[in-house]
Amino acid sequence: MPDSMTMSRNGMVSKIQTRIRTDAFKNNYDLVGKELGRGKFAVVKKCVEKSTGKEHAAKFLRKRRKGQDCRVDIINEIAILESAAGNPFVVSLHEAYETASEIILVLECAAGGEIFNQCVADNDEAFTEKDVIRLAKQILTGVAGLHRNNVVHLDLKPQNVLLTRAHPLGDIRIVDFGLSRRMDSMEEVREILGTPEYVAPEVLNYEPISTATDMWSIGVLIYVMLTGVSPFLGDEKQETFLNISQVNVDYSQDVFEGVSSLAVDFIKSLLVKNPRKRATAEECLKHPWLNGHSNPLPHLHNALRSSLDEPENSPSESEPELESPAPSPELVIVTSYTTCSGQSEMKSVRGAFAFDEPFAARSEIKQELIC
Ligand code: ADP
Ligand code: MG
Repeated sequence: MPDSMTMSRNGMVSKIQTRIRTDAFKNNYDLVGKELGRGKFAVVKKCVEKSTGKEHAAKFLRKRRKGQDCRVDIINEIAILESAAGNPFVVSLHEAYETASEIILVLECAAGGEIFNQCVADNDEAFTEKDVIRLAKQILTGVAGLHRNNVVHLDLKPQNVLLTRAHPLGDIRIVDFGLSRRMDSMEEVREILGTPEYVAPEVLNYEPISTATDMWSIGVLIYVMLTGVSPFLGDEKQETFLNISQVNVDYSQDVFEGVSSLAVDFIKSLLVKNPRKRATAEECLKHPWLNGHSNPLPHLHNALRSSLDEPENSPSESEPELESPAPSPELVIVTSYTTCSGQSEMKSVRGAFAFDEPFAARSEIKQELIC
């Protein structure tokens, strides 16, 4: 566990074990094939280590974003990856390189791509409920390990959960710790947050974030994996936020056709407004749905009604504009809230705003692209 000297007040870790190499990445790796994906400020490409012939994924992260030096954020990402080194469902970090403008993380390659792809796939390609049960157990085991380590991911979504193999379906690797934080002590943080569809109500309400915040996102994720439908997505972000704040979820047969009632019960234990009443990762792992008590039917789902229509990693032939990235659908809420170490220990430090006035509420939120 990092000591107080290595923790900043906002839960970011500033000390790492990894030696950041300054020799040329290209001397040691060849880039191969097309890019594996891209996000807000990173592009990820497959590479082969010259000395071993092994494939890896190289994540190229710009240090300057929106005119600000964001090296500390990348160091935090490295520190979190280091702390999760023994976690079988978290992508492993092999090496890191630094140039004048970038840091390159050499990661284990999750060759099966994003679970997003199967979430939006039609029929034959879509996950069966049996697949989702196996993958959900892995996601929860991975996240339980992070939470035991006092790490919150804060950006769990289908683009950040990858597969080691697509066909036959491989295992889960959780990636993208760019928004992750340590929750070791109650700290005031001035922050973030991720993707509107996956954001928990407490984030919108300026209430404390905790490990429960990830559990909400897992509820949304499992809903999407089973149905192909993004449960809170509205036509506008305001509508999405209102749906989240009101926990306006459709559990009807129309959406959950062919899905077991235990699966629905499982999701209901996560999409709970009060974070204290939300199931923890450990509790989820004990749920009957994941323990052979269900009688899952294969299910087929239709195309996704979602921002998944415009994913953050939309395929592009062009090189990423690393100095001025395309506008991202991600909304970042810069606000002030308090982190706390456990789901049972949360204390609100600030009154929640009433979300029946989403437009007014939004005007109080300073929206910016994430640094
Ligand atoms: P960002 O912080 O910019 O969202 P991510 O770490 O999520 O960056 O990487 C962007 C995308 O690159 C991911 O959504 C995924 O498609 C791909 N990717 C990231 N890491 C790996 C990896 N280790 N193996 C394969 N693909 C990856
Ligand atoms: Mg990402």
